[in-house]
Amino acid sequence: MKNILKISLMGLLISGQTLALANEPAASASASASASATKEVKKAVPGKVEEPAALATKKATANVDDDLRKALTARLAGGSGEMTLTGSGLDAKAPTTVSGASAGVAAAAKRKAAAQAEAEKMAHAHSVHWSYEGEGGPENWGKLNKDYTMCESGKRQSPIDIRGGINVDLPALKFNYLPSLFRVVDNGHTIQVNYGEGSMLTVQGRQYQLVQFHFHKPSEERVNGRVYDMVVHLVHKDEQGHLAVVAVLLEKGAEHPLIQTVWNNLPLERNEEVSPPEAALDLNQLLPDNLSYMTYMGSLTTPPCSEGVMWIVLKQPAKISPEQIAVFNRLYKNNARPIQRVEGRLIKESR
Ligand SMILES: [Zn+2]
Repeated sequence: MKNILKISLMGLLISGQTLALANEPAASASASASASATKEVKKAVPGKVEEPAALATKKATANVDDDLRKALTARLAGGSGEMTLTGSGLDAKAPTTVSGASAGVAAAAKRKAAAQAEAEKMAHAHSVHWSYEGEGGPENWGKLNKDYTMCESGKRQSPIDIRGGINVDLPALKFNYLPSLFRVVDNGHTIQVNYGEGSMLTVQGRQYQLVQFHFHKPSEERVNGRVYDMVVHLVHKDEQGHLAVVAVLLEKGAEHPLIQTVWNNLPLERNEEVSPPEAALDLNQLLPDNLSYMTYMGSLTTPPCSEGVMWIVLKQPAKISPEQIAVFNRLYKNNARPIQRVEGRLIKESR
């Protein structure tokens, strides 16, 4: 029994990693399957009763340990273990006496609670997923998974408060963005738009392809201490897999047509991609007239927090309407990783 349990939980753990990896650097079709697996377990094992549950487990484990294992295993395997466990005492004992009946009910309830507690404890230990608050929050990312240690120990992490850069003539950014069909997904951490192939960014002689873009509220990066209403991260990748992320800061103002097209196509369900058959996006609309920028080396701002990411933060913000911010706010009130230490990194800025 124990082994079966371990195997299924291992599966979950791996699923969680796949999802996390998929979020920042690139689109991934496998993300949707993994995420629904994680979600199912969370649903099956209700949360927020940690202390009383642990107590109940201690009292009950001695007698019903075997039953628990059976019930738990069946439950995680999608069976009806819970039914077997609670059904045994109730109806059979009810006719004898009133006190007998209530004792039966009490015992059954106790067993049920114990089974739930055990299931929760196990699921809890293995499947705390990263998020922006509570137990899975940024201060704990490094401890959630052995693949996330960089979130804690990294010395070139993002985001940062961008200030004190050297003012120089930076190489121009060459955007060759093509209009494209797109797919929108709510991946549980942000709204992400997967973009068609062929849109390129050339900087410092290196060519990167745009893979996806996504949103944070408020902006993750600060500029001289200032936080913006939101930010769009345009994630690019070169042929060797190096990442270059262009950040377009968003501040309150006029409605943004491209963002509106994305919002119009928001998926009704998490982890299910919406691919509008006719709507297309032209990402050039998101780029400001002035392409001067600030740049530094950093990391993904979500687990696994991998480093070696070239950050390019455009100085001129784009506009987004208060109504459009309100729409995103309904889905994600705060999905910004806190500011990380600069650790003496060089920041360059267009003068
Ligand atoms: Zn981002």
